[in-house]
Amino acid sequence: MNPAQRLTGLTESVIREMTRLAEAHNALNLSQGFPDFDPPRQVLAAATEALKSGYNQYAITWGSPRLRAALADKYARWYGMAVDPETDVTITCGVTEAIIAALLGVVDPGDRVVILEPAHENYLPGVLFAGGEPLWVPLSPPDFALDETRLRAAFARRPTAIIVNTPHNPTGRVFTRRELALIADLCIEHDTIAITDEIYEHILYDGREHVPPATLPGMAERTITISGLSKTYAATGWRVGWVIAPPALSNAVRTVHDFLTICAPTPLQEAASVALALPDDYYAGLIRAYTARREKMMTILKETGFRAAPPEGAYYVMADFSAVRPEVAEQPPGDDVTFARWLTVEKKVAVVPGSSFYHDRALGRRLVRFAFPKRLETLEEAGRRLKGEE
Ligand code: PLP
Repeated sequence: MNPAQRLTGLTESVIREMTRLAEAHNALNLSQGFPDFDPPRQVLAAATEALKSGYNQYAITWGSPRLRAALADKYARWYGMAVDPETDVTITCGVTEAIIAALLGVVDPGDRVVILEPAHENYLPGVLFAGGEPLWVPLSPPDFALDETRLRAAFARRPTAIIVNTPHNPTGRVFTRRELALIADLCIEHDTIAITDEIYEHILYDGREHVPPATLPGMAERTITISGLSKTYAATGWRVGWVIAPPALSNAVRTVHDFLTICAPTPLQEAASVALALPDDYYAGLIRAYTARREKMMTILKETGFRAAPPEGAYYVMADFSAVRPEVAEQPPGDDVTFARWLTVEKKVAVVPGSSFYHDRALGRRLVRFAFPKRLETLEEAGRRLKGEE
């Protein structure tokens, strides 16, 4: 039996494959982006309490009223956005479901969707599931700036939607207001919907601020804003994300979500509302902790011969390995997959091959991605292994 044609060209996630290789070789897993520490204590306690207090059946399909109210407060307080918890909020099983539900909700077969590359590996499957056609726009190396000419060329093909991820995985870019304004202008000019992935909205460095694209003039009515619990509260296994959008777009997402998953886990939605009520110093502490991890990661990379710019946000570094193993980098086509496997098996530190974030794989052939949402001890251990001190 053959799988459906829409799956043609989709292979298993390379990141999850690297995680398995890491486990098989007892390597430290700096490939998949999950923390090796727990969510905040109060949030864990709220989850236990919710399980004991009867929150064990289906939630309302678009989400627990308490969590939707907490989100309306959050978006008003952080970003000055007016969000109606009844009509504009949908709770999903993580950002992953939110992105797919948004794409299935607004993209018809044959429609085009702009994806900036390198890109999170979920976007292409989402576009293909909807029967859409990806329009790839590479960010310009080495600083991964938005390429205006290429973006304009893609918009000239009248895309239905663009996926905007800021702070950006895997590059660590936080798109500037200017870059986002360019995207906004093009969306307005071409009547394009922005589907935003803002999952790293609270992980920012050097005083940077997060600008939700929906807050730019003319964008509120054409933006599907997506974020979630996974990264801000170290809860990637809880599978709680959300979609904020005006009623017409929310209804499209809700129709897909209803029949895809019914609802996100009920007790964890209750605990999520406690997470969202954490005081401001939680977020300041999050930035301090991630800044320390970023410094540690950058020091290790420098000491071991990788070339990389410090990320502006999120918790990844794209590092050029050509000076670490020139013999691998110089072998045409320069093999990041060979290098990532070697690092996992020989050095016992797992990373993701850069090409797996690109549709034009050659663009990532000298890059690997390090994820550093890890305790400092874990990163120090990774440093010792990379230096061959173990
Ligand atoms: N979007 C981006 C950019 C990510 O980096 C990740 C996880 O690494 C996800 C989405 C997945 O989010 P979730 O755990 O909420 O499904």
